[in-house]
Amino acid sequence: MNRDIFIFLGPPGSGKGSLSQRCVEKLGWQQLSTGNLCRDHIARETEIGTQIDFFIKSGKLISDSLILGMVQEWLAEKAAQGSQGSVIFDGFPRAVSQAHALHELLAEFKDMQLYPIRLVLSDEEVIYRLLARSICQNNSCQRVYSLHKQSAHQPAQEMICDECGSPLVRRFDDEETAIHERLRSHHEHEQSLLDFYHEVGQPVVELNARAPLNEVYNELITKIGHPRE
Ligand code: AMP
Repeated sequence: MNRDIFIFLGPPGSGKGSLSQRCVEKLGWQQLSTGNLCRDHIARETEIGTQIDFFIKSGKLISDSLILGMVQEWLAEKAAQGSQGSVIFDGFPRAVSQAHALHELLAEFKDMQLYPIRLVLSDEEVIYRLLARSICQNNSCQRVYSLHKQSAHQPAQEMICDECGSPLVRRFDDEETAIHERLRSHHEHEQSLLDFYHEVGQPVVELNARAPLNEVYNELITKIGHPRE
């Protein structure tokens, strides 16, 4: 079994989470979403959750040390379970300091190959999508819908998940001020992250994130040369 690590880079709302879910379902990969880990801490009202609540809601990045702690804990848990196979890092690393830390962390695992994947989407499309995004509140489902009337991703029943029947919720940080902060932070760090992977000789695969999810998935599979399912 290979031990590839796919790093999903891209602005908020570019479909990193949905593409991750598709890869989990079709290919049996595992998803590590640092955003989900953060939201889980908040929901469980842990000490970390209390510390990061304000940052998440206002769209600001939280500290590298907290994020790295969560990533290390997740990796240790998976190792203890003996789990193997490809892993998607969804939303991590988000800054070049995190990319350095990840590189050091993985240096000891010689069998792991990193694939940075960049989902490309314009700011206008990000804002349009996020202002109408709703998500299934069931943690094991988390399907994403659009509340735009003309969207093909509207739920059949208002604010109810088509897949599992749970209520849909809007994320606190999917409001205008937080969206702008998240985009600002994305642009602040994006180029240095791309430069980092260029310097370490890791080609970045680009995907057109404006396309429907099926097409984005097919583009990913074709570009990394992986069997479709
Ligand atoms: P996401 O679900 O990936 O959109 O992340 C939601 C929020 O979690 C972000 O706006 C940050 O506040 C926080 N977060 C997630 N991943 C990171 C990371 N790698 N570094 C810093 N903050 C993060």
